[in-house]
Amino acid sequence: MKIAVVGSGYVGLVTGACLADFGHEVVCIDKDQARIASLEKGGIPIYEPGLSELVNANIVSERLAFSIHLSGAVSRADVVFIAVGTPSRRGDGHADLSYVYAATREIAKALSGFTVVVTKSTVPVGTGDEVAHLIKAENPQADVAVVSNPEFLREGAAIEDFKRPDRIVIGLDDERAREVMTEVYRPLYLNQAPLLFTDRRTAELTKYAANAFLAMKITFINEVADLCEATGANVQDVARGIGLDNRIGAKFLHAGPGYGGSCFPKDTAAMVKIGQDFGSPMRLVETTVSINDQRKRSMARKIVAACGGDVRGRTIGVLGLTFKPNTDDMREAPSLDVIRGLQDRGAKIVAFDPQGMDAARGLTENVQFADSAYDVADGADAIVLITEWNEFRSLDLDRLKSAMHMPIFVDLRNVYRPHELRRHGFSYVSIGRPEQD
Ligand code: NAD
Repeated sequence: MKIAVVGSGYVGLVTGACLADFGHEVVCIDKDQARIASLEKGGIPIYEPGLSELVNANIVSERLAFSIHLSGAVSRADVVFIAVGTPSRRGDGHADLSYVYAATREIAKALSGFTVVVTKSTVPVGTGDEVAHLIKAENPQADVAVVSNPEFLREGAAIEDFKRPDRIVIGLDDERAREVMTEVYRPLYLNQAPLLFTDRRTAELTKYAANAFLAMKITFINEVADLCEATGANVQDVARGIGLDNRIGAKFLHAGPGYGGSCFPKDTAAMVKIGQDFGSPMRLVETTVSINDQRKRSMARKIVAACGGDVRGRTIGVLGLTFKPNTDDMREAPSLDVIRGLQDRGAKIVAFDPQGMDAARGLTENVQFADSAYDVADGADAIVLITEWNEFRSLDLDRLKSAMHMPIFVDLRNVYRPHELRRHGFSYVSIGRPEQD
């Protein structure tokens, strides 16, 4: 099949490279000229494990190409994926659909022959109707089926998720599109990945429901962690105790500093807005959003308390900046709230992240960036572990401690065991676990 992917960010690039790897002929399009120029030379604009190899292998086999011009690739395509960003609109939390609609108008003008136009971007219920309407208005002759095919991949494991998904949700109301989409995903279908066909609105809502549910699950265990701290219980054991129940499941039960990233914050905010717009409030999601916002801010207070109540003039070392490991994505990362909160209280911040420092430079002020975890520790009055990169899981604790001015370790991901850190002479604070553990 001939496929055009409009938007070559985390989702578009992974989608394009994987579909090319399935044997389709793919052109990835982006309006960012520098991004396309770099991709054409084999450069990968984002950090995603395995992506560079996959992109380059498919360029060599001539199944994957890049362009800033949409019209040629779209006019030849059987399927056009829209994978542009849908950030939160300033002020009200609604998904900003301006990129989706701008791309739609451009696509409409270039369509030729029967084409399936697929929204892969996360979009509110009813957006597919508007996309179909815009295409008709822009190009009344166009023969299109508009499909919703939300993406569920996780950054950091995106290729594995795309190639071995739990399910593929496809919302449509045109039987011709069903055949085309089955063909697009045929290699996965043979691997037994369930293709779930629904109507378009159901597919659109399924994506928000999935993300909101996961955000609620994280928020639930975070509140349980607070209760553990108040009562002397251990949140990791509680999580294990409930997670072994198949009805609950063990995933997304790791207490931490609150969820961040490019999806959960904006998608929960958008779902709240959708509920309000349709007169069907999503009260659990509303509460989740507010608990999580407060939690991210409260982490700075927790660190200040661990430092004896005052951090003015002290140097706090931060390990990990990205919203989770194995990505360079800094969007809505909890580290940003923690750093701001500590700076507001007069602390000096030194930070290290294996992949996120370039992006973090543009999002923070007055942060000194270090070359390694030990560099961060040099002269620090406390260390805060915010993102659980593998390289922070097996630090040489004696070396770390001897570099520090004060041996205070705040572990916002429960990577270490309290008694282990105490044995190495640290004053150690973690999330929802008794100090004597
Ligand atoms: P991104 O910001 O990384 O990439 C979007 C790209 O689209 C940018 O490179 C931008 O230049 C390009 N673009 C915007 N308008 C364009 C146009 N008119 N023509 C061509 N290119 C255009 O975004 P992302 O993280 O890949 O997310 C894309 C969508 O997928 C969002 O709706 C998001 O919610 C959803 N999603 C993201 C993830 C994730 O983990 N990042 C997972 C599932 C779903």
